[in-house]
Amino acid sequence: ANFMRVIVESVGGTPENPGFFGDDPRIGRELLCVVRALLKKIKRRVLVGDEVLVGSVDWVDSRGMIEDVFQRNSEILDPPLANVDHLLVLFSMDQPKPEPFTLTRFLVEAESTGLPLTLAMNKLELVDDEALSAWKERLHGWGYKPLFCSVDQKSGLAALEDILKGQTTVIVGPSGVGKSSLINSLRLTSGISDEDEIKKLLEHYERSKWLGEQRVGNVSKGGKGKHTTRHVSLLPLSGGGYLADTPGFNQPSLMKVTKRSLADTFPEIRTMHKASDPLKCAFSDCLHLGEPGCIIKADWERYPYYLQLLDEIRIREEFQLRTI
Ligand code: GDP
Repeated sequence: ANFMRVIVESVGGTPENPGFFGDDPRIGRELLCVVRALLKKIKRRVLVGDEVLVGSVDWVDSRGMIEDVFQRNSEILDPPLANVDHLLVLFSMDQPKPEPFTLTRFLVEAESTGLPLTLAMNKLELVDDEALSAWKERLHGWGYKPLFCSVDQKSGLAALEDILKGQTTVIVGPSGVGKSSLINSLRLTSGISDEDEIKKLLEHYERSKWLGEQRVGNVSKGGKGKHTTRHVSLLPLSGGGYLADTPGFNQPSLMKVTKRSLADTFPEIRTMHKASDPLKCAFSDCLHLGEPGCIIKADWERYPYYLQLLDEIRIREEFQLRTI
């Protein structure tokens, strides 16, 4: 069977009337749930990160059945996750050194999701002050204010944890920059409440009350069925919020970026447009290649990267194929 781990975020309510969130020992408990067959039949796939309605809860054995899935705020494919609200783009200052075009590809892919992103540069202790200020200045020029940290030296992590608080975050970045190390350093035991407390509550209330419809939130782990190609789960963070245990897009595919949408993924272009508002480019489909009435200059560091990516996307768009 296909089980999903679910963390209880609120109990005893209905979608209209959510019930308690706070002071209840069941909040934070983990339940092992099966997905109701009807949901599968109508192709309502439950993704990790989904807010779900769980019924038939057995608090003694921590079991339940997922009855319904609430509407998603967002959905990403790599890794497959619902309701992600923040991306952390992680690179390192050295070993490996940040390669500007690779970093740009990751930033473009992250920007194309439409989700807020934070850029963090790890392995800070491997470089001197000169290299640090050079990169700081460079990335400011790109429109980013990165955080600098060292997972090894445990520096800069408090600022990072502050940003992760209360959000569901996926860490993305190339291999070797310290994504797994960071995830492990933030890893927490899940907040399963004291069994005694649960037993006391069960004695105090009618058992049937607990078996009614219960609203719980955030599926925390994907199924382990044969068809699951990639395993992903959410780790609850101490300050609230979740972190995906599986890093995202190691190889940015840019599949969701089009010739038209590429420009919007560059803060430099967004800023030039904003500064000139209401002028904008003369034509709304301007690709900023020096067309008449284009207000985007060519004198910024990443303009050649913009052109290179535009070319790549143009070639891809010419070969949109279809299986028949
Ligand atoms: P991932 O591929 O992005 O998940 O990277 P890993 O977490 O596997 O880390 C790659 C290597 O970098 C490992 O040997 C880590 O110990 C090392 N590493 C991680 N963080 C730091 C850091 O802050 N400083 C240094 N010097 N090494 C680090």
